[in-house]
Amino acid sequence: MFDNGNTVVQTSDVETANSTTAVFEDIKAALRQEFGETNFRSWISPVSFASFAGGVLTLSVPSRFVRDWVRSHYADAIQRLWGQKMKPCLRLEFVIEDKKAVPFEPVQTANENHGTPAIAAVQKARAETTEDLSSPLDARFTFENFITGPSNELAQAATRRLAASDATLFNPLYIQGGVGLGKTHLMQAAAHAIRSRRPDRRVVYMSAEKFMFTFIRALRARDTLSFKEAFRAIDVLMVDDIQFICGKETTQQEFFHTMNALIDQGKQVVLTADRAPADLDGLDERLRSRLGMGLVAAVEQAPLELRLEILQSKCRMIGRAMPAEVLSFLAEKITSNVRELEGALNRLVAHAELVGRDVTLETAQDLLKDILRANSRVVSVDDIQKAVAAHFSIRVADILSPRRARPLARPRQIAMYLAKALTEHSLPEIGRKFGGRDHTTIIHGVRKVEELMAADVTIRNDVESLKRLLAA
Ligand code: ADP
Ligand code: MG
Repeated sequence: MFDNGNTVVQTSDVETANSTTAVFEDIKAALRQEFGETNFRSWISPVSFASFAGGVLTLSVPSRFVRDWVRSHYADAIQRLWGQKMKPCLRLEFVIEDKKAVPFEPVQTANENHGTPAIAAVQKARAETTEDLSSPLDARFTFENFITGPSNELAQAATRRLAASDATLFNPLYIQGGVGLGKTHLMQAAAHAIRSRRPDRRVVYMSAEKFMFTFIRALRARDTLSFKEAFRAIDVLMVDDIQFICGKETTQQEFFHTMNALIDQGKQVVLTADRAPADLDGLDERLRSRLGMGLVAAVEQAPLELRLEILQSKCRMIGRAMPAEVLSFLAEKITSNVRELEGALNRLVAHAELVGRDVTLETAQDLLKDILRANSRVVSVDDIQKAVAAHFSIRVADILSPRRARPLARPRQIAMYLAKALTEHSLPEIGRKFGGRDHTTIIHGVRKVEELMAADVTIRNDVESLKRLLAA
């Protein structure tokens, strides 16, 4: 269990041990004052009290590296403070916590509930270091709350599989998909599941930004060694949204090394990104190929039935019923992502609670105007005419006018073409919106532009850039 092999705790009096533990915590606080926050976090915080007997103070540390550092930098101060608060400390000794063995080791003292104070301290220290690194999880992001459909089936199955097994079946698991489609939810669901199945495993979940921030902080403090140590002691590392570290040279390299070190040790790595490894810009080639070596599983836009099911499940979760037609309406209209869908539902729920009655279809339409508009991506003929006029530096009135001069006719035809391509209006409707023209005029205009686009790059570029502008 410990690297000197002997029983560490020489007193069976747990109470004495507890109070000396408390004294040591005071000493740590004093060291924090004396040496500052950065040193404290890296070196002093991981140290815990193991025993004190015969003038020998034994401390427990997570690694040899920390032991050597503490011995050479803080031993004098620790001995001095211990002498002031307790008894003279003649010698300082260290035991190194064995990360894997501790949780399975039978408890060695008579006090079955708490284990030895040393083990308790070690476990506490371990929990603290992991918690320091990991970001908190969202309690709602569990597998139970995740609705599966064809768009996320593979990602869900792979994540569940990974969470259920200690073997590394695919490493790294790379979950890829657009905003709000459940990547973070899935990843955290795996974290929850692993933590409850194997409480002894160190599961660290963090955003790529936090990884970067932690690394930069270590760089500034000239303390990258403890950064490396902390990361390499992890059993499951989850980094969310890794597209953020692309192009950030040093961070990317460190990330690569960390990931490799973990994978080589048989530790699990789970990543998410908003695109495939091949599409990540500014990425080191070695890193890119390593990212694709495990399993890449995509979460796609949820189809209609899945959107509806998700809404129904959310309603059950919050314990509030919504009229079926309102849910169908939401599912049909809000197609972009699940987060928006949830946001819309929450807004309706809040409203229903406020006014104390069910939301009708009409109220829903009214309450969600902004979200619906953004999702419908409907471009109006008006918008098209304005954009075209601006692009060619003419007036909207010129587009609507009967004048046939080429500098007006060409933009007018392009506007007709776009109205046909980007809206649902019929040809007669479009005709009416172009100063009451006949639908055959519109057909003619559309054909003309199609021909011109095939033959003339300038026109093609004009049309394409207008399309992009209008779709944005
Ligand atoms: P991403 O990380 O891909 O941007 P999130 O995981 O944060 O997306 O998901 C956004 C929201 O949508 C969260 O509240 C999440 O619970 C919910 N969500 C996404 N997909 C599903 C799903 N399949 N079932 C239930 N909730 C989902
Ligand atoms: Mg996310």
